Amino acid sequence: MSLDQNSRIVVVGASLAGTRAAEELRRAGYTGDVVVIGAEAHAPYDRPPLSKQFLAGSWGRERIELRPAPRWTELGIELRLGERARGVDVAARRVAMEGGELIGFDGLVLAPGATPRKLDLAAGLSGVFELRTVDDAEAIVARMEAGATRVVVVGAGFIGSEVAATCRARGAEVTVVEVLDVPLARVLGEQMGGICGDLHRRNGVELLVGTRVENLEGDASGEIRRVVLSGGRSLDADLVVVGVGVVPETGWLADSGLEISDGLVADAELFVADGIVVAGDAARWLDLGQGEHVRIEHWTNAAEQGVVAARNLLAGRGRGEPYVPVPYFWSDQYGVKIQVLGYPRPSDDVEIVEGSLEEGRFVALYGRAGLMSAALGFGMPGRLMAYRKLLEERASMHEAMMHARGS
Ligand SMILES: Cc1cc2nc3c(=O)[nH]c(=O)nc-3n(C[C@H](O)[C@H](O)[C@H](O)COP(=O)(O)OP(=O)(O)OC[C@H]3O[C@@H](n4cnc5c(N)ncnc54)[C@H](O)[C@@H]3O)c2cc1C
Repeated sequence: MSLDQNSRIVVVGASLAGTRAAEELRRAGYTGDVVVIGAEAHAPYDRPPLSKQFLAGSWGRERIELRPAPRWTELGIELRLGERARGVDVAARRVAMEGGELIGFDGLVLAPGATPRKLDLAAGLSGVFELRTVDDAEAIVARMEAGATRVVVVGAGFIGSEVAATCRARGAEVTVVEVLDVPLARVLGEQMGGICGDLHRRNGVELLVGTRVENLEGDASGEIRRVVLSGGRSLDADLVVVGVGVVPETGWLADSGLEISDGLVADAELFVADGIVVAGDAARWLDLGQGEHVRIEHWTNAAEQGVVAARNLLAGRGRGEPYVPVPYFWSDQYGVKIQVLGYPRPSDDVEIVEGSLEEGRFVALYGRAGLMSAALGFGMPGRLMAYRKLLEERASMHEAMMHARGS
């Protein structure tokens, strides 16, 4: 069926990718029904502030709403919040809801995002959190307001590092425990990962690398008290935040027949089946620029992919535009903005082209097989975007270096 005014498009996932997709449907002139289903009870909100301003206590819920409430009504978009889809019947074109209702669709946008990995050791203990939702963030803030001052962060990835920085700024004594010898080495390589690690140390946070959490111990009432580490050391703790990565939220689609392999596997136009597109953290799509399927867990990707997925759904499979981004993400830690453009790999060559390690602010370019692959900005927010075009144009490392030198 064509997506005309009598049709219905269902969006599963009421967060960034789902919001951008739903809005784009209207912007592109779609006049049929748009129904957005979200398992969380809250109106769509933004996650990056959860580890930054919201955790710091400087922003409340009203500052993180993605859209003011009347906007949804203005756009004629039905939001069904606090409701979870439990499956999709691809052939019958129906979404099955928990509770039994079946919602028919003519087009479907899947934007279910990702969910944090948990530590099994934490089962049954109070004071151990992951950070994905505003409810998680509120619970962590409440714990700190109730007097928790000894914070252990498990995992020195971007979210763990931001939590460490924000808790430190709130006056907590913070230890970060990282299993790798160099934090972020698998994303940024050893040299740049090492620099990110030093940032913790320079700001009074203890960073324990090459260290594993062996056990979490609570008191008689089940409150976290100690984190036992490999090597035998143990840390007193009254708050533990676990940041050991996320997994795509696709378990509910296991019986759908859609291909799932670390995400919903999509073609270059973001289709997972005829009339069904995917966007955001859950999407593993064929990036024609890279010549392989990739999945990205960052804000800008979810926002841009939501828009393209909606447009392609309206255009129809085979008539849409391939999604070929220059990926971008940022992280704010201890007042330093870390930004990355492109697809860095740990084995890439790295050249600092602006600023310097001594100044603690620089731009570094990543290169692979003679081509520029990525750019990293460390404390130079105004400078990084100048390198975007070079990545778009697939500049050689030589051209990129010349550009950086202004010649
Ligand atoms: C604390 C934090 C800080 C971050 N900071 C940054 C940053 O500084 N820079 C950056 O680039 N990125 C950052 N990110 C990542 C960025 O927020 C995510 O990439 C983005 O939220 C992904 O959007 P999404 O819409 O794909 O998925 P999500 O935001 O995960 O949303 C998916 C939604 O779908 C719902 N859902 C899932 N399954 C179902 C179902 N079956 N039925 C109904 N609803 C369902 C979920 O409940 C959820 O609300 C951060 C993330 C977190 C958690």
